[in-house]
Amino acid sequence: MALMTGQQYKDSIRDMDINVYLMGKKIENQVDHPITGPAMEAVALAYDLAHDPEHQDRLTTTSHISGEKINFFTHLYRDVDVFVKRLDLMRDMARRHGMCHGARCVSGNIANGLESITFEMDKKLGTEYSKRFRTYWDRVQREDLSVGGYITDPKGDRSKRPADQENPDAYVRIVDEKKDGIVVRGAKVLISGASIAHEALIMPTRGMREDEKAHAVSFAVPTDTPGLTLVHQLPSPDFRRLAPDAAGSDFGNERYGVYNACQIFFDDVFVPWDRVFMCGEVEYTNTLVGRVSPTFRCVTSSCKCGHRDLLLGGSAVIADYNGVGKAGHIRDKLSEMSFESELSYGCLLGAAQKGYTTESGNFFPNALYANVGKYQASKALWFCARMGVDISGGLVMSMHSQKDMDDPVIGPLIEKYFKANPEVSTEKRMKMMRMMEYLTGIGNILVAESSQGGAPTANQQMVVNAAMRSQLEEYKKRVLELADIQD
Ligand SMILES: Cc1cc2nc3c(=O)[nH]c(=O)nc-3n(C[C@H](O)[C@H](O)[C@H](O)COP(=O)(O)OP(=O)(O)OC[C@H]3O[C@@H](n4cnc5c(N)ncnc54)[C@H](O)[C@@H]3O)c2cc1C
Repeated sequence: MALMTGQQYKDSIRDMDINVYLMGKKIENQVDHPITGPAMEAVALAYDLAHDPEHQDRLTTTSHISGEKINFFTHLYRDVDVFVKRLDLMRDMARRHGMCHGARCVSGNIANGLESITFEMDKKLGTEYSKRFRTYWDRVQREDLSVGGYITDPKGDRSKRPADQENPDAYVRIVDEKKDGIVVRGAKVLISGASIAHEALIMPTRGMREDEKAHAVSFAVPTDTPGLTLVHQLPSPDFRRLAPDAAGSDFGNERYGVYNACQIFFDDVFVPWDRVFMCGEVEYTNTLVGRVSPTFRCVTSSCKCGHRDLLLGGSAVIADYNGVGKAGHIRDKLSEMSFESELSYGCLLGAAQKGYTTESGNFFPNALYANVGKYQASKALWFCARMGVDISGGLVMSMHSQKDMDDPVIGPLIEKYFKANPEVSTEKRMKMMRMMEYLTGIGNILVAESSQGGAPTANQQMVVNAAMRSQLEEYKKRVLELADIQD
């Protein structure tokens, strides 16, 4: 058992032949690529911190499967304390890299759900999924692998169920069952960290009906499996990374980049049985989705808290650099940002506190508070981004380039006319302005991502509405009693 360092993680991805494309060309070397390289640095950071005596307690733990020391990102949730530790860790990591940890984030939540559901399937159906899954995850922990979490299908016509789609592959499905495994076809889309992870862990995106057995499938494959094609996203902030002259303060988050998400196509991919964790058991899909969704919504919302922490800090710094740090309305805005942000985090902690443990020993948060926390996480991030723009000033969306600043004629003009607080150099102010461009979502996608990653608001409203409706008659009865009104 060896915990990888950041360098070992990067080398191990470099050694794989991952079939990933960007702008119609295969990326031959993701480590040194201007878009995938920085995204890998964010993942590498957690590998390195696991070796740092100051951070080891938070970044490592003991596996409940092997009893060995593992990276915390491969740990599954055994109780409320482990889950809260994961939330705190996500928040802290986001504060350190301001990026996404997708290559190791979603999969832990899927794995936690799969460990519980395979246990229950085996108990009732006499299958051997649990042993397979635990053997697989034990290897993930032992080899300290990064695993992308693949849930979202292309879904075709949203008004139709998987079995009713014109395109039968709109949801990943089993197209053949052989003696030694299954063959799958379809796609998973918008998967964070997919191309910079060693493995892909797949589960259904929704509950399936009896006639949708082919879609009730869960499995894992190495990311360089034959038949897998990945296409890297290209949001507009990434174009700047491809501009040959861009440098230095042209990037808000120079070291860690913008994001890494891919569309992944499965062209009749063979999966051996020891990597298949569900194969047609439709009756378990709803429960699996019902456990994984709230868990992941908590985890993806906790990193948004870290992003908002950076927005708060950045807003305070840029206000100082602009010379207005002590203004009353700035302080009020910072305080309102903090209020909205902590409201979300408090809900996530509440979801953990009111969570439950299944017979398999897996811990899951309470769905109501998880969904309220997720809804508020996105609302708070958009709000904080708005405040960040408001506090920064118009330059946050109208910056000049590093090349202009370096130019012997234009540079001194910028130096002269963009100086604000006399105690702060123009260079520092420009750098922070670019960072604010990044944090407010003009130069990044995290603010917008908060509206879709982990599901859009309608999904959260559905859960909250269902919970409210289940209680409403009782609440009406109570208020009528209190008012002494008889039917
Ligand atoms: C940057 C990024 C990273 C992501 N990372 C991951 C990841 O790592 N793993 C993963 O599995 N997924 C990931 N996702 C996918 C994310 O979970 C989905 O984007 C989200 O679930 C919404 O799905 P969609 O994008 O297909 O939008 P849609 O489902 O098309 O939703 C668009 C709108 O239509 C509404 N809508 C959809 N269906 C219906 C319906 N039947 N009736 C009424 N209204 C409907 C929705 O409420 C929403 O308002 C990521 C997404 C982004 C943007």
